[in-house]
Amino acid sequence: MRNGLETALSPIVTFGRVRPFLRRRLTSVFGHIVTDAPNPFIAEVYRPPTVGEFRRALVFLQKNFEFVTLSQVVAHFRDGASLPDYPVFLSFDDGLRETVDVIAPILKELGVPATFFLTARAVDNRYLFYGHRRSYLLTLMQSMEMSMAARRSIGALLGLSAQDPVRDVLCQALRALSVHRAEDCVRLDECAAVLGVTWRAVLEAERPFLTAEQTSALLSDGFSLGAHGTDHTKFARLDATDRGRDLRRSVDFMAETFGLDEVPFAFPHSHKGVAREWMAERLAVDPRLSIFFSTANYAPNDRVMINRVCFDRPVDAAEPLDIGAVLARSFLHSAVHHAGLRRAS
Ligand SMILES: [Zn+2]
Repeated sequence: MRNGLETALSPIVTFGRVRPFLRRRLTSVFGHIVTDAPNPFIAEVYRPPTVGEFRRALVFLQKNFEFVTLSQVVAHFRDGASLPDYPVFLSFDDGLRETVDVIAPILKELGVPATFFLTARAVDNRYLFYGHRRSYLLTLMQSMEMSMAARRSIGALLGLSAQDPVRDVLCQALRALSVHRAEDCVRLDECAAVLGVTWRAVLEAERPFLTAEQTSALLSDGFSLGAHGTDHTKFARLDATDRGRDLRRSVDFMAETFGLDEVPFAFPHSHKGVAREWMAERLAVDPRLSIFFSTANYAPNDRVMINRVCFDRPVDAAEPLDIGAVLARSFLHSAVHHAGLRRAS
């Protein structure tokens, strides 16, 4: 949420003005996919970079920062090892197939290291997240012919009073369903059934996620991996027992499937509602768990958790990605909302 100070300062806080503050502070950026083609699973969730935008962003980061690996980041925060000046760490969440189709080849060409955080049940296309389900259905509903009977059934499921709801009204009601509420997820699946959509068939036909084999190839290419939950449920929705179980199972999966000795964990959505003490305790009891990652921009990092800046934008963002402007805005946001962001010397 922007406050008045942030809005007032925004026009004058350029990347050039922010850069001196980033010399001894880790800049951590992340996204999900890079693509020039429309992707129905994310079309209604966020606007990812195009190939051209991604290449320009990497060149900008190479010019202004020094890329560091996951091992360097963990060694710095856990053991006090030094990092180069202007360190930047790149990662991607969710393990979508564009990782190998688009992202990895560009990273290899430019010599940029990266870490991929994977959700256990998505690997090998065994499960589709609810955010992806909602986006897929919305994309489908905007392009397909829907019979009056189908529109009426979906309208009834979504609690609409209109006898014959039009497409836009149905889409608006579907967008309002929360992927974080069990009863809304049930309704979303019921709407899919009305349209003859079976998620198993969609996963088999579209194969939106990486396979375990493709993921192993990423490791062989020198990239690193991390865990991102068992089924992408937000931790704020889970009680303490389920949090522990989800974390342990997703770390087990990554360690056992890919032979990892150490596994970092990126919270699905964010760490909101999870206490640092709980995280510190998990790190103390599970030697395979190396560190947590979240999404609070430039909020302070420590031995327990590292925050990242997302370079995906709202679905209707029309202007080209300007990674310098994204970093400047994120830094300003964190400076206004978090104490302790003084200039490092
Ligand atoms: Zn995610």
